[in-house]
Amino acid sequence: MSSLFPGAAAASPMQAEARLVVASESTDLAEATSLTAPAGPTEALREPVNLTELRREAEKAAKDLEDATKALEQRRAKIQASEKELAAKLRELQAAERAFAQVRQPLSDLVGQLYQRPIGSDAAFFLSGDADASTLRAMADVSQIAAERNQVLGDGARLQAERERLAAEAQELRAGNLLAEAQMGAEIETLRARSAKIVKSLTQALVKLGIKVDKSGNPAAGCDPTRATSLSDFPNGLIPKAYLCPLQQRGKELRGDAAIAFISLNEAYRRRFGKSMCVTDSYRSLAEQQSVYYRRPGFAAVPGRSNHGLGLAVDLCGGVEQFRSAQFNWLEANSKKFGWMHPKWAYVSPFEPWHWEYDPKLGSLL
Ligand SMILES: [Zn+2]
Repeated sequence: MSSLFPGAAAASPMQAEARLVVASESTDLAEATSLTAPAGPTEALREPVNLTELRREAEKAAKDLEDATKALEQRRAKIQASEKELAAKLRELQAAERAFAQVRQPLSDLVGQLYQRPIGSDAAFFLSGDADASTLRAMADVSQIAAERNQVLGDGARLQAERERLAAEAQELRAGNLLAEAQMGAEIETLRARSAKIVKSLTQALVKLGIKVDKSGNPAAGCDPTRATSLSDFPNGLIPKAYLCPLQQRGKELRGDAAIAFISLNEAYRRRFGKSMCVTDSYRSLAEQQSVYYRRPGFAAVPGRSNHGLGLAVDLCGGVEQFRSAQFNWLEANSKKFGWMHPKWAYVSPFEPWHWEYDPKLGSLL
């Protein structure tokens, strides 16, 4: 059986490991890009490892594992259906054989009797050519019965052949199913190990950058970085905890992909300004959005419509909140490289230099 998951083989564990270099060790992500990008045309397309790439790999590995598990479940359902069908056929055959046995014996006996004691046993009577109509009818009945017996014997041979064929089919099906299940099981194990390894590397990289992890080794808020982009199912302000990932800034969290991109941006900012970004606000639940809206009318979006409620926006302090400060200008020039930007509206209406957003489209190009 060929691999069911063509993508699974694309990144070998070795390749994945080779790329698991934590970006924080380099001087600057942007600088590192230009320093380490080789001149070759294919190589140049490949950015050096960063958290975003690692997160994307983790997400893909989780998706591959999920797909493989689903495929195995589907396969099992098909196996069950085909075995059921086969069992039904065998039962039908058994019933046919029973019915056949019931017909065969009396018919056989009858034919035997007829041959032993033919109707009009007086040979002379036959030879005389005086056979009457009833005798002729009786002779016709005998040959009819004999023909039926031959038919029955033929049916018996066909039933036997059919039973042998079905038994062989059942055996082949079971052997094939066992093999397929074993192969799929092994493939799933490989994918599971690969997924766990990537998530572990990502978690270790995050821990190195000051993200707290809980006892089970997950980022403290319980976030699952492998599910970041499957969030469209949740309404604004009602994102479940597991989908939000913590930032280095205490108590602040964003959607997984935005969080990881922000952490990378924060590292670049820290190398430039010597300290982490100052964050006043990040993900806002619906209740928090309502509270801000009524406290500062005109300064916050209508509850349920803010990008804060999608876990894709931050409000910054530490200088960024002042338009054209060094911090603002640096962010304006560099944030896009990390998928972050200052939205057009925030330059004018309402004027919010502190408000920055993660653009998943921009992020997907990283
Ligand atoms: Zn804001």
